[in-house]
Amino acid sequence: MPFIAKIPSTGERVDITKINNPRAELKADDLVCQLCGQPMIVRQGMIVKPHFAHKAECTSDYKRHPESPQHRAGKELIAATIKKELPEYSLAKVEYELPIPEAKRVADVAALFPNGWIVAHECQLASITVGSSVLGLLNYC
Ligand SMILES: [Zn+2]
Repeated sequence: MPFIAKIPSTGERVDITKINNPRAELKADDLVCQLCGQPMIVRQGMIVKPHFAHKAECTSDYKRHPESPQHRAGKELIAATIKKELPEYSLAKVEYELPIPEAKRVADVAALFPNGWIVAHECQLASITVGSSVLGLLNYC
């Protein structure tokens, strides 16, 4: 349930969090998964924040985890926090769900720096110790 879909005719990555009314502004027939190229649809509701969803199962071989509304909220929190709290990120471009082909993984939140560095931030919502749920940040570059 990603924030990013691709327009196949242009190759453009579409970030649904930057679009005011995705249902009205995006053409449903022109959105595909950036990993597998299968058609995607816009999901939004009274409570559910807009996101993309596969019409069928994703067929890519990238490592993924099931995404929940909490995971999407975690990604938004990370993106907002690194830009606001870390002065060294002022020149970085922050993107959701950046594919890293070398690792066959998708970075939940990636910061792209002018010098070419990419710092990937991952949101993990899982019990790491019994009874505790942790929002963890893991950085690698
Ligand atoms: Zn897919």
